[in-house]
Amino acid sequence: MKLVGVDIGGTSIKLCISNEKGVIEFFKEYDSESKKGGKYLVEKLIKIISEFSDFDAIGISTAGQVDNLKGEITYANENIPNYTGTKLKQILESRFHVPVEVENDVKAAALGEKNYGSGKDFTDFLCLTYGTGVGGAIVMDSKLYHGSNRIAGEFGHIITHPSGLPCVCGGSGCYEMYASVTALVKKSIEVNGLYHNGRIIIDHYNQGNSMLEKVVEDWINEIAIGLISLIHAFNPHAIIIGGGIMERKEIVNMVSFRVKQLIIESFSEIKIINASLGNKAGVMGAISLHLSG
Ligand SMILES: [Zn+2]
Repeated sequence: MKLVGVDIGGTSIKLCISNEKGVIEFFKEYDSESKKGGKYLVEKLIKIISEFSDFDAIGISTAGQVDNLKGEITYANENIPNYTGTKLKQILESRFHVPVEVENDVKAAALGEKNYGSGKDFTDFLCLTYGTGVGGAIVMDSKLYHGSNRIAGEFGHIITHPSGLPCVCGGSGCYEMYASVTALVKKSIEVNGLYHNGRIIIDHYNQGNSMLEKVVEDWINEIAIGLISLIHAFNPHAIIIGGGIMERKEIVNMVSFRVKQLIIESFSEIKIINASLGNKAGVMGAISLHLSG
């Protein structure tokens, strides 16, 4: 059996071919040209998949909110204009005549971590990715938890600061306005315009830059505050943290240390760890959509 896994993001489309055990036999990355819109993206996707033949199923991990039962994009932001409403499963099944499964990218990444990465040893864990926003996914009893509208896990929009900063979702005081990497960068730029990306900020912090000390420590505290509510609500074995600079172990160690200072003691065995599949988590999860167990 041959499986096609695809991860559709704002900047790239990643494709892999695996066997029925999920062993990756081929991997390639393409520019998604997402600003050209949903229709163009789907046409490009069909063209890319058409380069391959004799496959038995397609798994898709994609940016945006996904109804995984229908295989439709229920909402996508301006990163991929006019992508909302795209019936990906229907389009690809009628074109390729094989079963197609579609999943949101953060949920797919969590599934990838469950099958191949940091989540292997846990039945219950949460995945959070920190970047421009904060994404989340819930694994319960070794399965993704979807919720009534299939969109559970919007951890970026739990409210950590009542009456706080306005958020893209229309609310205010949302977690991602304080805990995302974008939030860290905004605060750091106020200190010095040179600190315009996460890597530079963390490098300078590690070198003992005293001006950044408070900014980074406040940000770690913001991350920890949100996690504590989630840990108290879900009682997971682990929190798996991913996305860009979160691959740095020292950040996750600082978060873990702060969480353990603040958490109710009976929850203190929680493990806070790095995601291990990096930018391949989504595509590995896409493959997993067709693997049993
Ligand atoms: Zn929000």
